[in-house]
Amino acid sequence: MRIAIVGAGLTGLTAGYRLSRKGNRVTIFEKNDFAGGLAGSFKEKSWHWPLEFYFHHFFTSDKELLDLAEELGLAKKVFFNSPKTSIFSNNFISPFDSPLSVLKSPLLSPAQKMQTALATLYLKVTNNWKLLEKTTASEWLKKYYGTKPYEIIWEPLLKSKFGQTDAEQVSMAWFWGRIKKRSFKLGYFEGGFQILIDSLLKEIKKNNGEVLFNREFTASDFNRGFEKIIWTGPIPNFLKIAPKLPKEYQGRLNNLKMVGAVNLVLVLKDQFLKDNTYWLNINEAGFPFVAVVEHTNFIDAKNYGNNRLLYVGGYYPQNHPYFKMSKEEIYQEFLPYLKKINPAFKFPLLASRFSLHSSLYAQPIVPTNYSKILPSFTTPLPNVYLATMHHIYPWDRGTNYAVKLGNDVAYEILKKI
Ligand SMILES: Cc1cc2nc3c(=O)[nH]c(=O)nc-3n(C[C@H](O)[C@H](O)[C@H](O)COP(=O)(O)OP(=O)(O)OC[C@H]3O[C@@H](n4cnc5c(N)ncnc54)[C@H](O)[C@@H]3O)c2cc1C
Repeated sequence: MRIAIVGAGLTGLTAGYRLSRKGNRVTIFEKNDFAGGLAGSFKEKSWHWPLEFYFHHFFTSDKELLDLAEELGLAKKVFFNSPKTSIFSNNFISPFDSPLSVLKSPLLSPAQKMQTALATLYLKVTNNWKLLEKTTASEWLKKYYGTKPYEIIWEPLLKSKFGQTDAEQVSMAWFWGRIKKRSFKLGYFEGGFQILIDSLLKEIKKNNGEVLFNREFTASDFNRGFEKIIWTGPIPNFLKIAPKLPKEYQGRLNNLKMVGAVNLVLVLKDQFLKDNTYWLNINEAGFPFVAVVEHTNFIDAKNYGNNRLLYVGGYYPQNHPYFKMSKEEIYQEFLPYLKKINPAFKFPLLASRFSLHSSLYAQPIVPTNYSKILPSFTTPLPNVYLATMHHIYPWDRGTNYAVKLGNDVAYEILKKI
């Protein structure tokens, strides 16, 4: 069977791998000149390992990703360690990644610490996300963590991830998924996520599949005789080119919203977060970014020519000016705030030492009762399937769920043929 897949991100590559292994003729269309989509990476000459455009790690609970790695013979490349997570609030950095660090935190009173620990424990043990999806994260968190812990810990994060207005809409089921699946240990591949992407590309080729780079799937490609088409890219682009979709269906898909992401990657000579924090959540109002992530406080700098690698960025509404600004402009915008975190630090002046990565489609906004509007794989167009980040629920989108989505959509098709 001739199958077209739109997008060589992890969803498209996993589906392509599964379907080509069963003898189908798979053609993957990728509009960029690289594979991996949001999990794609770049590499400087002196580095042994490439680096993802956006901060990436996985959890010990990421079963589908780990199973796929094992199946592809990459299990020995997987490793876990326990890098430090901290929050920046009231102009100082405090660790916030273990029950002990919460207990020691100067930001909360003893009663608030107890309440925080109990609410987190509840979210870790409960499986009843169907109950939680009825309420917004902000309502639930205020009620069960208490107003003060909510304002200090969660409100800045929700707002900086989804923006002022959308943060209030996000479902508690989405938030539960984040807490439930988060592990203390974080994982990474020797050689970065690129080794998984390269391995999938190799397998697809071995199975006589093809990946067409710099090749956008356009309206005319719907008529090129493919017996099945799987779309893994942004839904608005699908709606623009898909032939004759019922108005009611278009309306439903149009209601699915996303926020974009902007990441500045700084290549530094020295360590920026001197306390070895890998992930620094910015819980301070007025900052233009939500996270500062020092990759080389997680992964050894020797893999990157002893450079120190720092991501600075976050999520922004799709009409945010950052999506139109140059990397120099964004760098200048971020710099005064980076100096608040480490005033003594000498920043690079050369533009070649920083790069900007942005995407308008980075994180779905999951409203309450999303299970009732969750789109299905099938569409009103016979033999055209959708498998996008909007199809992941109640878990937060991520590489593990991209792999699961690729597996599931391939299975849905294999069932029928
Ligand atoms: C800032 C940030 C941090 C993240 N951190 C993590 C993390 O720590 N851990 C984790 O597991 N996940 C993380 N993720 C999420 C993870 O990267 C994604 O969930 C996953 O990569 C999505 O894969 P996908 O294939 O579904 O979509 P995408 O990666 O978006 O792939 C879609 C592909 O389709 C292509 N495409 C679109 N339209 C067309 C067209 N018309 N023709 C041809 N090609 C087209 C695109 O170019 C793209 O390559 C992060 C994402 C971001 C943005």
